[in-house]
Amino acid sequence: MAEECTHDCSTCSANCSSRPQGIPKEELNVLSSVKHVIAVVSGKGGVGKSIVTSMLAVLMQRKGYKTAILDADITGPSIPKNFGLKERALSNGEFLLPVSTKTGIDIMSVNLLLEDETRPVVWRGPVIAGTVKQFWTDVVWDEVDYMFVDMPPGTGDVPLTVFQSLPVDGIIVVTTPQDLVSMIVQKAANMAKMMNVPVLGLVENMSYVVCPDCGKKMEIFGESKTHKIADKFGYELVGKLPIDARLTALCDKGIIELMENDYLDNAANVIEKKLANN
Ligand code: ADP
Repeated sequence: MAEECTHDCSTCSANCSSRPQGIPKEELNVLSSVKHVIAVVSGKGGVGKSIVTSMLAVLMQRKGYKTAILDADITGPSIPKNFGLKERALSNGEFLLPVSTKTGIDIMSVNLLLEDETRPVVWRGPVIAGTVKQFWTDVVWDEVDYMFVDMPPGTGDVPLTVFQSLPVDGIIVVTTPQDLVSMIVQKAANMAKMMNVPVLGLVENMSYVVCPDCGKKMEIFGESKTHKIADKFGYELVGKLPIDARLTALCDKGIIELMENDYLDNAANVIEKKLANN
């Protein structure tokens, strides 16, 4: 048990004996090992969950860790596009092989399996949830230090499957200032509590824009309340991302690995620190 245990596992990332373990997790295959799993969640779509997942993976890879992304956003997969991946994932006869990005981040996404990436995935919930589970069990995750799971928005079938089947060490909640922040953070808090998974931090996206002429920061969605909400729940606001057209361009061109900004450096440091003893 951690020295100053509050008995609230949702605000603590220590992997101590008092953390309830729940249902047994799905086993990885014999060729795989994954040290840490971090789920990136949001209350609704379009708030920048995938860009935050991609940026965090890039930063952890730059720190020298072997990093991977499991794209669990089956009906809205945007991870391959952010990294400019066009090839199809192959099999070694027994298991699926992830596709590696230019800097060596291993990725599995439904868009790497479809013949035509513009074809919609029109599957029912249980099939989608089963696919996500297989992305964990049937893919070769070769000595991964940090795996980021890009979750579908909300709290449906798939997030539930991920929390029940994968040994998630913690979640990062992505939100925006104009979001119904309190409600969404509260939902995340409750889900984390139910699943005994700690919230590693909140990332606020689209926090401000910088005027290209005078350099002034403008909070175009009004003054952010995220830090107050974070305080209320005892979570850490680990990063703020401005609306930055360069980020959109990097994603559109599939070269997010070339990003040059420090927006999420603190978030990556916090993840590294909080999971160091797990
Ligand atoms: P989600 O995964 O939550 O649905 P995405 O990460 O796919 O959202 O982002 C939606 C779109 O908005 C993408 O085209 C992305 O490049 C763009 N975007 C997200 N955050 C920013 C930002 N801070 N600045 C500029 N563009 C952004």
